[in-house]
Amino acid sequence: MKLVDEHIINSLLEAKVTNVELNCILSKTRALQRLSIEETAKLLSVKDFESLQKVYAAASYVKEIIYGKRIVIFVPLYISNHCSNSCLYCGFAANNKLTIRKKLTFEEIKNQTEILLKKGHKRILMVAGEMESSKENLDYYVGGVNAIYTASYNDNKIKRVNINVAPMDIESFKVLKTSGIGTYQIFQETYHEETYRKLHVKGAKSDPNNRLDAIDNAFKAGIDDVGIGPLLGLYNPYFEVLAMMMHIEYLERTYGVGPHTISVPRIEPAPGSVYASNPEYKINDEEFKKIVAVLRLSVPYTGIIMSTRETAQLRDELVNLGVSQISAESKVTPGGYDGNFSHNDNFQRQFSLNDQRTLDEIIKSLLSQGYVPSFCAACYRKNRTGENFMNLAKPGHIKNMCDINALVTLKEYLEDFASPEVKEMGYSLIKKSKARLDNASLKVLDNFFKDIDNGIRDKYI
Ligand code: SAM
Ligand code: SF4
Repeated sequence: MKLVDEHIINSLLEAKVTNVELNCILSKTRALQRLSIEETAKLLSVKDFESLQKVYAAASYVKEIIYGKRIVIFVPLYISNHCSNSCLYCGFAANNKLTIRKKLTFEEIKNQTEILLKKGHKRILMVAGEMESSKENLDYYVGGVNAIYTASYNDNKIKRVNINVAPMDIESFKVLKTSGIGTYQIFQETYHEETYRKLHVKGAKSDPNNRLDAIDNAFKAGIDDVGIGPLLGLYNPYFEVLAMMMHIEYLERTYGVGPHTISVPRIEPAPGSVYASNPEYKINDEEFKKIVAVLRLSVPYTGIIMSTRETAQLRDELVNLGVSQISAESKVTPGGYDGNFSHNDNFQRQFSLNDQRTLDEIIKSLLSQGYVPSFCAACYRKNRTGENFMNLAKPGHIKNMCDINALVTLKEYLEDFASPEVKEMGYSLIKKSKARLDNASLKVLDNFFKDIDNGIRDKYI
């Protein structure tokens, strides 16, 4: 597999760290500096309780300084489970004869979006299986994105559609970009070539370079906002983290900017997949927490996404260790938000989910921990993406803007969708958050708040 030097990674897997080295690396992270692959390998080698606590404390510190108390919320929208690939861990695999296939029409996609808007969602990750024809894929994805943006509920609209769909060529990505997508997300699954070939047995995805090329094609088409990640459980997780770091370094060298987000999905049981119930490299929660914390320290300005594959309790812990975006009340079944889909769910979903809380319950939990749930999409709408975003984020210029925008979206949620209990908790947190703002920011925020009280929505800076 290109970009990944397995020989170097295997030697880094032998790394050990002394106390002096650990302290030195952690003080570098506290200065918000990006780590080298060697330093990441040393942090991954930490095992004893005391050193791990130091790593967690540094991760919490970095998280707080860069992202403050904001947690961005999104929801996945699965539009089709038709797929021409056979990934042995996935319920949508072409060779899974149990799966009942469903490809939503554009009208159905719009209806599903309206259900999500009624709950208060503003950011969608559109997800689909991969069909054989690239032209069919492109037309369907563009139509799907348009359908989502067309949906509305009481003047509420989806602000940002990110996508997790099949690789494309440069020309197709250019077309997709004009449909108004935010992040293009695609997971390498495993960076270990032999394992990759063993698990991807059919279709375009069986070529391990197919997905690495997709990220290059997206950049070349002008999409500078990409999301990457390994599917944890397929191979040695430390190998995957270090290989992803190599991928990130390559992107930074080549395009001047790395991924906007990284994800660390863990494999879950999937209908019809024997492999998914018994993956070869299943990792426990403690290892998983360490990986999230080490990633937070290694690439401090890259968002980390956590899905509802993880339990409510673990997700609540992970927001403290570095996660900056979470999904809420997800269904991984096309048409899953209907309410009457459940009798078919076992034959239509991609995998099992562990956090089944509603959006309001998740918001309640975040508020009770002092976090500000955010539905903001201002950066993408104001072209603050890729290098532009990093130039503002690194000197800390973006923080005030983000705080204001997050509080505006929270107040909108409280007014339009929240339960009475959550509304009360939300206003109490807003009061505390306002006390931390400087006078100039407060003035801007108060004007936005007046607008909301007068029925005006969706203002941002
Ligand atoms: N078909 C496209 C692809 O494979 O990139 C996009 C959608 S796929 C539905 C999204 C992601 O789900 C995959 O990239 C994979 O990492 C993840 N996935 C597949 N099977 C899974 C399982 N059993 N448990 C957890 N995640 C899984
Ligand atoms: Fe298809 Fe994606 Fe599932 Fe693989 S992971 S079978 S490409 S939907």
